[in-house]
Amino acid sequence: MRKSKYLLALILLSLSVLLGACKFQNKASNTIYTTIYPVYSLTKLIAKDKLVVEKIVKDGAEIHSFEPSSKDIAKLTSSKAVIYLGLVDEWIKKPLEGTNVKVFKASTGIDFLQNDPHIWTSPKLLKKMAKNIEEALIKIDPKNRQYYERNYISVLSKLDELDRQFQDVASRAKRKEFLISHPSFGYLAKDYGLWQYSITGVNEEEEPSAAKMKEIVDLVKKKNIKYILVDPNENLPGVKSLAKDTGIKIVYAYGMGIVSKEQSQKDTILSLMEKNLKAFEVVLSK
Ligand SMILES: [Zn+2]
Repeated sequence: MRKSKYLLALILLSLSVLLGACKFQNKASNTIYTTIYPVYSLTKLIAKDKLVVEKIVKDGAEIHSFEPSSKDIAKLTSSKAVIYLGLVDEWIKKPLEGTNVKVFKASTGIDFLQNDPHIWTSPKLLKKMAKNIEEALIKIDPKNRQYYERNYISVLSKLDELDRQFQDVASRAKRKEFLISHPSFGYLAKDYGLWQYSITGVNEEEEPSAAKMKEIVDLVKKKNIKYILVDPNENLPGVKSLAKDTGIKIVYAYGMGIVSKEQSQKDTILSLMEKNLKAFEVVLSK
């Protein structure tokens, strides 16, 4: 009697261990990795809860100088699939060489201009990225094809709306040029007939030189610029003194090169682009 009770306990214990292992296995085989926030957010909007979508570049980290840790590399090599942007996150390639991990590029069909990776700030290019991601998800998990197709259509309709709204703001704009601390909106400028002036280069996040600041002060005077777009996650003290010296006002916009934990949890790339729309409406108004 005592022996059978013991046996029963043992069976129950092994069953629960087995179930636990299955659950773990399930999570691991359902996990896909993305690299940077824009790819992560778009992928989540289309995959929703059918896959576990993770991102390698952590909240608060900066994409241009990012290097994966050995932990990050272990995550990449053990995942089911990886979706990356291209240009700025080519660091996924080497660790994934010769592995069975499926790799998808979200920028397929998009030409990068010079060395500028910020394609995600143009709604027109976001539509292409969303399509690439939808196709990747269908390849990763074909049985849920219709689910991903539906979610993609819903994302696309929101991007169409954003596209129309940016078109509208640009066409009504009093001025076509804008000043920004870090040049995250070059593709938006190109696609909507605007001109971007920036303090730093496309892959730089550091404080500009005195000569560069002098150039910007002259530009502000010459063009009678009233505003500067700044990502609240960037820390450029020079911008504050520039604003103070020239009287231009700081307007927040989200280039998504650094994304805070709060934004990562509460926002999506769509809600951040809606905030960007409002920011552009202001800076182009006078
Ligand atoms: Zn950037």
